[in-house]
Amino acid sequence: MQDPDFLSSCIDVSVAFWVGIVDGVSQNGSNVPRWMTEPPGVDPAGVSFGMVAFGDAAVPVLKLWTESVSSRCPLRTLRARRADESALAVLHCWLAEARVGWRLMLAGSEVDVLVARSEVVAYGAVEAEIRIYVTSTDRKRVYCPQCRTVTEAVCVTGQRVACEGCGGSLRVDTHVSRRHGAYLGVCD
Ligand SMILES: [Zn+2]
Repeated sequence: MQDPDFLSSCIDVSVAFWVGIVDGVSQNGSNVPRWMTEPPGVDPAGVSFGMVAFGDAAVPVLKLWTESVSSRCPLRTLRARRADESALAVLHCWLAEARVGWRLMLAGSEVDVLVARSEVVAYGAVEAEIRIYVTSTDRKRVYCPQCRTVTEAVCVTGQRVACEGCGGSLRVDTHVSRRHGAYLGVCD
């Protein structure tokens, strides 16, 4: 069963917005992002920046980015273990103060980057303002269409995970919701 509400929130073909993604849609209809193998550069059109490293693996990327920004540009940085409530609260503060020309750069594991990205877009950030570098894709958030619980697990697409909400067996599908920052789970 596929959840029409979930699918309508899935990443569409125009993922050119997502700087950091090579290609969002493959020939088999999947929209699993294929992330860039090298960190994207700093947007030269940006006039102020927020830069985030989720996890230790992203710290060198954060350093690279901060060193690439003109000293004239206001810059805020955040190092966080995960995209948890406290990290997202910092992003909310940045967004509240953001002006035209503000840019957000997110580095970290896919699971954290997708959560942070969906959060800031929900709070009004424009996709073209966001650049992403993914350091690993081992962990995924999987959305259950039966009970709407999101379960986080180490998995690959096609594998099965147990829903933490209803206990159902979910096959990790190749659809990713931009709104939920999660892969669709299929009960089949
Ligand atoms: Zn469930």
